[in-house]
Amino acid sequence: MAKKLRSLLDENFAPIEFNSNLVCSSWQELETATNNCQACELYKGRTQVVAGRYSKTKNADLLIVGEAPGRVEDEQGLAFVGDSGELLDIMLNSVGIESYYITNVVRCRPPDNRNPSKAECQSCWRFLQSEIALVNPKAILCLGKVAAKTVFGGVGKFEKLMRSRHQFFEYPVWVAYHPAYLLRQPQLSQHSPKWETWQVLCQVKLYLNGLRLESGDKSYLNNR
Ligand code: SF4
Repeated sequence: MAKKLRSLLDENFAPIEFNSNLVCSSWQELETATNNCQACELYKGRTQVVAGRYSKTKNADLLIVGEAPGRVEDEQGLAFVGDSGELLDIMLNSVGIESYYITNVVRCRPPDNRNPSKAECQSCWRFLQSEIALVNPKAILCLGKVAAKTVFGGVGKFEKLMRSRHQFFEYPVWVAYHPAYLLRQPQLSQHSPKWETWQVLCQVKLYLNGLRLESGDKSYLNNR
């Protein structure tokens, strides 16, 4: 774990205009820095800065990255607490992913729920980098195009991105539809967006189970 964290804090780590001096080294530092942040225009419209939400512990197995807070998140100051978050929790629970931390590419709500701009994503990048380093997950899941592009530079046809496993330094990365989009896609038939997202979640779950088996932990087998 320490090795992973060090590599993210290392000066040679420079994926997208990265400045290792700007990475927060503790949760307290991250909270203070975000709450006082006015690095992009989004600060003007926020009710409050939106923090990451976690299921069990901040050091979760899976780090999930969405795009930007919506109205409910802006009001409550916590990521994915609206309808999208509820759907995401249901889907994660349905495949047995229990340990996750959910955050966004930007921490302040964009006006009219528009996508965050590239400049806004870059301004908030240091906080996402900090969360990756502090959570130190076993895997990352990007929800939507903005998250995929920001985390590992994923561009091109979204469906194609979803079919592959990607890499961000030592972290394996998967891509799935954003739950806000899934809320508008009620169908559950084969190859529907929800079905495709479930396939991705199953792949992530299999990967996490494989890690547990490798480490000698077979406890999850007893719960089946
Ligand atoms: S979105 Fe991020 S960079 Fe922009 S003001 Fe909020 S915390 Fe700062």
